[in-house]
Amino acid sequence: MLGNGEKYNPALLRLELLSRGIRVDQDFTRQLGGVLKEPLWTRTGPTSTGIDLKLERGVYVSPAIEGDRFPYHYKDSPFLLTIDENALPVIMKDDRIVQYVTLFPRPSYYGKKTSNGTPMEQIGVVTGDFLAIAIDNRCWFWGYYQDDELVNYKEKQCKFCGIGLSMKRDELYRKDNDDIIEVLSAALEGNDIKHLGINAGTFPPPGRGHEEYARLISEIKARHDVWIRLSICPPEDERYIDILFDSGADQVGYDIEVFDPKLYKEICPGKNEEVDRGIPHQHFNRMLKYAAQKGGPNKTYSILVTGLESKESTVAGVEHLCQMGVVPRLGIFRPIPGTHLEKHPVPSPEYLIYCYRNLREITMEYGVDSGCAGCGRTFVGTKEYDGVNPIMPEISDEDLENAGIDPANVV
Ligand code: SF4
Repeated sequence: MLGNGEKYNPALLRLELLSRGIRVDQDFTRQLGGVLKEPLWTRTGPTSTGIDLKLERGVYVSPAIEGDRFPYHYKDSPFLLTIDENALPVIMKDDRIVQYVTLFPRPSYYGKKTSNGTPMEQIGVVTGDFLAIAIDNRCWFWGYYQDDELVNYKEKQCKFCGIGLSMKRDELYRKDNDDIIEVLSAALEGNDIKHLGINAGTFPPPGRGHEEYARLISEIKARHDVWIRLSICPPEDERYIDILFDSGADQVGYDIEVFDPKLYKEICPGKNEEVDRGIPHQHFNRMLKYAAQKGGPNKTYSILVTGLESKESTVAGVEHLCQMGVVPRLGIFRPIPGTHLEKHPVPSPEYLIYCYRNLREITMEYGVDSGCAGCGRTFVGTKEYDGVNPIMPEISDEDLENAGIDPANVV
């Protein structure tokens, strides 16, 4: 057990968990496993493959579970999810209890079907505190599907992405708006979620899905007063951004993924060649700037996949986004089996702590948000939740020493 004055900083613990993953012991599974929300593999995979937990002070996290899904990583995690002598769920690190955790029950709508007969969890899953729905699993950069046929096959996908693999699993490729709204209604009525996050693969130009998203969002907003965040590929011109914000979208994300231009070209060939016309980020920047202006403060974000480039380059990307008034969201790389980067190493705790400290400082300096805590359960940026503290907690050198991490390695 932890002694007095030896509290384990939950903000630090979440970064370590996201880097190292977690093992789940049989006592935990036997006692509590039956009532839990199970990880489901949908969309690009990584963010729905962990186990959702809430740490102290309302810090959300979803560490990867060591095992079959990740054959090359998370093998020797020092973290174990188990129960204490009172059957309360705890995380142990190297045989000492470092934190009590709150678990998430199975959402009320799992196991039910929509009026069209579709299993509701094939439409959307609960992740953190929100409903996650990929409205269309086709992506223009893999090759686009029409009526179950792969057309325009081109292999220009982002190399970390597994959306084309989801097509071979049991997820639907295009989801019906009525089904989506029915599942959203069920999740809201069951108190399973606080808001909605939607995404999809990239749609064809010129609108790249803006009109389709806008139609769906208008339909949702006519029925529910729910906050909606979405990731989408930038359109060819600004008028599509107007359409999206005018539909009621609350936060729009254009994800540049990798800030280093050379690595961006290699890792995101489709985005570089077709969206940016071979000049890394030029079109993304234009659309991000416009969206930040159109939407107002903290209504536009961009994700950087953290762990695919140097930590200094990631931090430079954070500053670049903040300068445009764009919320930087640092999604931590989680390798998906079957993708080009399935064996790429995951970032170390030290790498993530470096990014965290800089993200905290830079976003505070620019007065830019760092993303919602519930949404950020697989991200570097997190806040203590429930609106208590809008600023991310500090991770001190003392916290690091308490965790057995040498502060000298976090520079
Ligand atoms: S744009 Fe890239 S990350 Fe997004 S779905 Fe297509 S391949 Fe995946």
